[in-house]
Amino acid sequence: MATFKAIVIDKAEGGQTVRLADFDEKDLTDGDVAVRVEWSTVNYKDGLAMTGKAPVVRRFPMIAGVDLAGTVESSVHPAWKEGDKVILNGWGLGETHLGAYAQKARVKGDWLVRLPASMSAREAMAIGTAGYTAMLAVMALERCGIVPSHGPVIVTGAAGGVGSVAVALLAKLGYAVIASTGRPEQAAYLKGLGAAEVIERSDLTGAPRPLGKERWAGGIDAVGSTTLANVLSMTRYGGAVAACGLAGGMDLPATVAPFILRGVSLVGIDSVMCPLPLREEAWRRLETDLDRAKIAAMTSEIGLAEVIDAGRRIVEGQVRGRIVVKIP
Ligand code: NDP
Repeated sequence: MATFKAIVIDKAEGGQTVRLADFDEKDLTDGDVAVRVEWSTVNYKDGLAMTGKAPVVRRFPMIAGVDLAGTVESSVHPAWKEGDKVILNGWGLGETHLGAYAQKARVKGDWLVRLPASMSAREAMAIGTAGYTAMLAVMALERCGIVPSHGPVIVTGAAGGVGSVAVALLAKLGYAVIASTGRPEQAAYLKGLGAAEVIERSDLTGAPRPLGKERWAGGIDAVGSTTLANVLSMTRYGGAVAACGLAGGMDLPATVAPFILRGVSLVGIDSVMCPLPLREEAWRRLETDLDRAKIAAMTSEIGLAEVIDAGRRIVEGQVRGRIVVKIP
């Protein structure tokens, strides 16, 4: 096929345009593996890219989409051959390299992870960057020595993609999970994922004190800003917090008190440039440590034509759980 369907972002006077368009295969970015994209997903970052609310896209025209799962069509990379089932998360896909909302992608073989044997491509995208980031955050807490017997772990932005998977993962691993959400109507959903307690987002949006009452041994924060500062100030002695998001803001109005008086650790999580061995470990763990029935229950499916609207909704905080995109 000389052209294929894709969600294309282009520069326009005073902003950008985004549309479902025909894209010429010869204009794909360089790479040593051609992949037939079968499934993708909509992450918060995809919403930012398609709405133009943040400068995610750094080359125009750009095919949006930071996550793909599909089948290798052809490869000159030694690790991959025709027919291999692969996953790609990040590495600049949809930002600097033409992305996933397309029937075809040309990518670097070094970026690919093999689809775990028991997982379908659809399941991998129901997990997506959001779920893989949640797994990286859980692994970071484990590296800091946080175990279930130390006390509860808080998850902020809990009803979102990263948050929902983090709740499900932590609960399956035996942690008592406190889920913080701005959508109290999602309490039953969060308890269904395994949350022991659901608290209001507003509990964590007041002016942070240097140190608050010690409430949790660990945290996974998708929100940033005042929320992260409050989470840190309420973390127990020797605890750890994994920071992975900025849904509430990029600033961090905190003091060093939790670090120097309680030995609390703040660990950064980056999924985009994360080295391959850590990615492979995360996907191995996702295969064994995640209740995929729970993920299936929180996942809705859309087609390419609905992706642009889903991007708007996720940025407006209207999406619960995960969305998969079926690529025709
Ligand atoms: P979602 O939109 O699915 O989830 C974000 C959640 O944050 C919302 O569902 C909502 O949860 C909460 N939220 C939204 N707006 C606000 C606000 N103004 N104040 C407080 N809470 C808010 O996005 P994802 O789960 O895909 O991503 C979450 C964050 O993690 C994003 O900032 C994203 O950019 C980041 N991210 C980072 C990665 C990395 O590599 N570090 C990888 C993937 C994502 P609720 O309704 O429950 O309150």
